[in-house]
Amino acid sequence: MKIFVVNCGSSSLKYQLINMKNEEVEAKGLVERIGIPGSVLKHQPANGEKVVIEEYMPTHKEALKHVIDALMDENYGVIKNMNEINAVGHRVVHAGEKFAFSVVINEEVVNALKGCIDLAPLHNPPNIIGIEACQQLMPGVPMVGVFDTAFHQTMPKEAFIYALPYELYEKYGVRRYGFHGTSHKYVAQRAASMLNKNIEDLKIVTCHLGNGASVAAVKQGKSVDTSMGFTPLEGLAMGTRCGDIDPAIVKFVMEKENLDLAGIDNLMNKKSGVLGISGVSSDFRDIEEAAEKGNMRADLALKVFAYKVRKYIGAYAAAMGGIDAIVFTAGLGENSASMRASVCEGLEFLGVEIDNEKNNVRGKEAEVSKANSKVKVLLIPTNEELMIARDTKSLIAE
Ligand code: AMP
Repeated sequence: MKIFVVNCGSSSLKYQLINMKNEEVEAKGLVERIGIPGSVLKHQPANGEKVVIEEYMPTHKEALKHVIDALMDENYGVIKNMNEINAVGHRVVHAGEKFAFSVVINEEVVNALKGCIDLAPLHNPPNIIGIEACQQLMPGVPMVGVFDTAFHQTMPKEAFIYALPYELYEKYGVRRYGFHGTSHKYVAQRAASMLNKNIEDLKIVTCHLGNGASVAAVKQGKSVDTSMGFTPLEGLAMGTRCGDIDPAIVKFVMEKENLDLAGIDNLMNKKSGVLGISGVSSDFRDIEEAAEKGNMRADLALKVFAYKVRKYIGAYAAAMGGIDAIVFTAGLGENSASMRASVCEGLEFLGVEIDNEKNNVRGKEAEVSKANSKVKVLLIPTNEELMIARDTKSLIAE
């Protein structure tokens, strides 16, 4: 069985074709600048050279046509015809409270996702466009929606209700949803198998630290809290997002800087986080390099970031009544030994003891805590595409 995994952004389309017999990726790629001059498709077959196709692609449907042609190409394709694709798994950002699990996509599901556009105005429209483009180009092929919010639907009400007038939740769905759910779920499951334990017996804090960053408390395999909220702006400091701030700052800064709503939204989403503090970059590699050269604000940005992750770990230890494992994943979590060490520094009282030698690793599964550390610290590269493919397989096989 071959599953085509699709992740559409506003001007991009990422894909993988996964053979579920061995869960191997046969080809993957990315279309960038859809609808913008300079569209480009970068296609990487597993056993071949990368192919770059530069041709204007005005719509996601057009981009998808190029991707399908690349997958079936005589020279660099990996399938002979479209019948070899058994199903499509779509990453969808926001399903509101509608879906706590992945679902087979039908008209009702698409309409429900359209109903969530208000909640994710930047993300859901391209996700829906991607679904509709696939439906047009691949008629009859079953499609499954896998939602970033679904895993966190198990949060108890006290964890997801804001202390705002309750009517705002009832009328507009203003509550905490959480994101990166597919990633948190994948690494929590991997953690249980790495530790040779039943996930039902574990309390895990999963730290997805990338350009977007969030922490989740996973108790008995279920998310019971997570740091992102109504939108991905809440929680940790991130590449360019501010994370938790005093909400009164919004009005204060709008008045002082003469900003309108779009202006303050842009400031908090695009100009803040470690970019805002350091003034150097949103990329942690640049910030680490600048900090090493003595840039104080870059150093401060790293410290603020680590401190916030550490605080969330402490909070989630309280929420779950203890922790058995901490998992680091995503670009920064998988690659930065110094950030992992910095986050764990001071958590010895919880039983967290990182092993500096074992921690000197990147991009592959590893236990990086000391052998006698009460809390295990794990590095687990995330694999959202595989998770999407597995959910898709299990739903279409039913
Ligand atoms: P992601 O959003 O998961 O793709 O993660 C992107 C973030 O990971 C960027 O801020 C990168 O700077 C960071 N990252 C990737 N590789 C490294 C590395 N070797 N050291 C530090 N940060 C890294």
